[in-house]
Amino acid sequence: MHQLTLAEIARGLADKSFSSEELTGALLSRIKQLDPQLNSFITVTETQALEQARAADARRAAGETGALLGAPIAHKDLFCTNGVRTSCGSKMLDNFTAPYDATVVAKLAEAGMVSLGKTNMDEFAMGSANESSHYGAVKNPWNLEHVPGGSSGGSAAAVAARLLPATTGTDTGGSIRQPAALTNLTGLKPTYGRVSRWGMIAYASSLDQGGPLARTAEDCALLLQGMAGFDAKDSTSVDEPVPDFSANLNASLQGLRIGLPKEYFGAGLDPRIAGLVQASVKELEKLGAVVKEISLPNMQHAIPAYYVIAPAEASSNLSRFDGVRFGYRCEDPKDLTDLYKRSRGEGFGAEVQRRIMVGTYALSAGYYDAYYVKAQQIRRLIKNDFVAAFNDVDVILGPTTPNPAWKLGAKSADPVAAYLEDVYTITANLAGLPGLSMPAGFVDGLPVGVQLLAPYFQEGRLLNIAHRYQQVTDWHTRAPNGF
Ligand code: GLN
Repeated sequence: MHQLTLAEIARGLADKSFSSEELTGALLSRIKQLDPQLNSFITVTETQALEQARAADARRAAGETGALLGAPIAHKDLFCTNGVRTSCGSKMLDNFTAPYDATVVAKLAEAGMVSLGKTNMDEFAMGSANESSHYGAVKNPWNLEHVPGGSSGGSAAAVAARLLPATTGTDTGGSIRQPAALTNLTGLKPTYGRVSRWGMIAYASSLDQGGPLARTAEDCALLLQGMAGFDAKDSTSVDEPVPDFSANLNASLQGLRIGLPKEYFGAGLDPRIAGLVQASVKELEKLGAVVKEISLPNMQHAIPAYYVIAPAEASSNLSRFDGVRFGYRCEDPKDLTDLYKRSRGEGFGAEVQRRIMVGTYALSAGYYDAYYVKAQQIRRLIKNDFVAAFNDVDVILGPTTPNPAWKLGAKSADPVAAYLEDVYTITANLAGLPGLSMPAGFVDGLPVGVQLLAPYFQEGRLLNIAHRYQQVTDWHTRAPNGF
């Protein structure tokens, strides 16, 4: 049963080949058996999952239908879940039980999804390797000595290892697309504002966006349908009609204009990945697409701008964790200053502390104009580049990452080396655009992803292209050995 995609599960539940309770039980025992190798879960909610499964079966028996009714999911551990620990991968929130559900969690539960638990992640979603979690590194099921990508590394590893068919993730600078690429999954970062951020513990609020990780574009369409929509509780949620994402999956690609940015294919890109990207372009040409070279001239400034803006917002968002109201508090504080200092010093890991220092520095009087304002100006130029490019093309295609998954520990001593891995993904966050990564081949037995970017609110176009591509390729169907 663990081999089934979400779409296949929907059919199996509808025609009563199995019940949600049977499926849930089977996946829970698979998690118990295999997750010790991967460390992809922080919390498994067995009792609650079985209760939810029985409730879904009862709803179906009473005549209710729906693709997600009774289907399994697990949430990245930064989505607040009522009554369940929500740790954000941090010692700071190790003892935090959320008193309410995030909108995404509530919407998927209303649709009848069964939550199996909370997945491991980089601490406060900062990272590209899932090595900064307080709960230990996550391993890549394709090679247990390699990282799965981050920060949604637990969500990705669990789906790649067929522990369950789908998970939620969040993407501030690539954390859905990059781990999807490194573990052979399809991952979608929606347009900023498409999915409510309410109840998602904030990293960088102007960049954060939740979205689905699954094996196929078809499954991402089902999940996005359940997650998307206006939410009055999130002031940056956009009141835009949500289309039927599954309805358009098979639309023709005849005449689709694909832009290949010349800046994507320079030094720094593994030539074997460049070859696989070109091969994916050939497949799409066979389906009727036409290809055009384009330019995104300000792309070279994206990493420096992002690594000012994201830490600046993080330093502000994380100031609430002070040992006073909730979360970790140090033992026997001498006075209030000691309480603040030691609670934060002991509760936050090294990467989080580094980002808080960078962010506080960039926002301080005297440096604000030189760093933060400058970075925001660059952000606007990057957005303008995309708006101009989308006058000529319907979609932009390129690699998701410059390299395949690296060995655990290989970049831990050099944070900038890890930051450089985000070069292709962070521009979509800076501009607020939707992006999707899909499986496109292997290098040394490790998966490679191709990224598609579309104009605002055109998630349906991304899913359509990826689905058509997945009808004529089989990369996405390959499973790692031993899983
Ligand atoms: N790697 C990027 C960072 O560390 C992106 C993380 C994310 O998307 N959450 O900021």
